[in-house]
Amino acid sequence: MTNCSQQSWQGYSQRKGDSGMNERIRELLRQIPPMDTLLSEPWVSKYEKDLGRSTVKAVFTDIIGEIRKSALDGNESAADRRTIALEALKRLESYNAPSLKRVVNATGVVIHTNLGRSCLSDAALRSVIECAKNYSNLEYNIASGDRGHRNDHVEWLLCQATGADAALVVNNNAAAVILCLAALASGKESIVSRGELVEIGGSFRIPDIMAASGTRLVEAGTTNRTYVSDYEKAVGAETALILKVHPSNFRIVGFQAEPSRDELACLAREKGLVFLEDLGSGFLLDPVSFGLKGETSVRECLLSGVDVVTFSGDKMLGGPQAGIIAGRSQLVERLRKHPLMRALRPDKMTLAALEATLRQVLAGEIGEIPTLSMISTPPEVLLSKAKGLAKRLRKSFPEYAFTVVPVEDAVGGGSLPEIPLHGYAVSISHPRFSSGWIQKKLRETSSPIIATSREKAVLLHARTIRNTDVEKIEQALYKIISGTEDLPDASS
Ligand SMILES: *Cc1c(COP(=O)(O)O)cnc(C)c1O
Repeated sequence: MTNCSQQSWQGYSQRKGDSGMNERIRELLRQIPPMDTLLSEPWVSKYEKDLGRSTVKAVFTDIIGEIRKSALDGNESAADRRTIALEALKRLESYNAPSLKRVVNATGVVIHTNLGRSCLSDAALRSVIECAKNYSNLEYNIASGDRGHRNDHVEWLLCQATGADAALVVNNNAAAVILCLAALASGKESIVSRGELVEIGGSFRIPDIMAASGTRLVEAGTTNRTYVSDYEKAVGAETALILKVHPSNFRIVGFQAEPSRDELACLAREKGLVFLEDLGSGFLLDPVSFGLKGETSVRECLLSGVDVVTFSGDKMLGGPQAGIIAGRSQLVERLRKHPLMRALRPDKMTLAALEATLRQVLAGEIGEIPTLSMISTPPEVLLSKAKGLAKRLRKSFPEYAFTVVPVEDAVGGGSLPEIPLHGYAVSISHPRFSSGWIQKKLRETSSPIIATSREKAVLLHARTIRNTDVEKIEQALYKIISGTEDLPDASS
């Protein structure tokens, strides 16, 4: 970095020639203190200790380079020791703070992909710590004293929870779909309905995933109506697979038709094709028991004749990030042996968390799995939670107004966008500060609080607020109030 910026600066001055350089610019550049002077600032040693001397030096070098460039471009920016030191301090402080950290999810969206999807259960965490801190039998068969397989720790549990003959875990659901297509249809054709050629978000686009897996996409039907006869017409000598995709956060309503799973399974069997379904969320329990009508459990899909299903570990399962593949053992065996499997295999911490979560699912301990418990919390419980929070905040912060209001929460993770979950939120407003300003200040604290807003108020949705978050919310509000000297007006 250092050499680069110096070279370009020297090149510039040589090109222009000394006479071409304005005296004012020279004066500005002369102001820049030498590196040794900058590094001798008393506060610098702390950052040298935390980040290393070369990092600190690189930060100063960057800043000096920027000032030089700006001066040569004709800007009169300050280049004194104090200005440089303040800028360096700001940058070093931000590098020194942890980047990935806890936040308070006050959005009411339970499976919030940007906020890390599912929170793990205590049992899952205990298992992660135990297996990550120590050695484990990850790939060791204790009975025989020989090599074992990492997948063995969860396969039986997944088969119990889904009714599948065999199951396999990979890094995430995108990896699961890629592995299935690569192992079962690469170099061949795969048929997808035009109504399911979707983009899920986070750059998961069905046509691109298929191309990356080496299978040729053959489209069937139309965007809104696809019949089993459309799939039948698309079958040719090169067809290997029928792919059904959960449209996630996208719905076709009105003049719409799609064949049932049973019909597609029948066609696949008749033509000797693999029937693969990307379920996305993957319900292990009955979706209707969560008030989520219109979804199908993994078990039901397999019973309808789908050969292999894939779904995420951190959506409706409530576990760690993982891709789960469940289905016929003959096909799962082909996936296991595929060279990509080695690149997509899950980490031991994932497997530890997944195993513990699956055990809780089997035991019906819904209340222990945060995602499932948040989705199934009844409105009256959320109302009293919101009331309790509002009462506590009212006592500590009389200058703000706190009221409890009904809100629509969401499952998230691409599940059922049209079915809102009825919830409650604490609405925060202030006579002078705008909701946008309060929202920003809540985000800027050391435990950032991510809230929504409606009209002039900030909303803290009770559903996704953890018990230990309440303290964080109080601390954040205290911090906003104690920083009153730079508070702008509501209009700003
Ligand atoms: C979420 C989702 C994916 C991606 O799953 P990841 O676990 O994030 O890789 C793929 N397909 C569908 C239908 C989804 O809903």
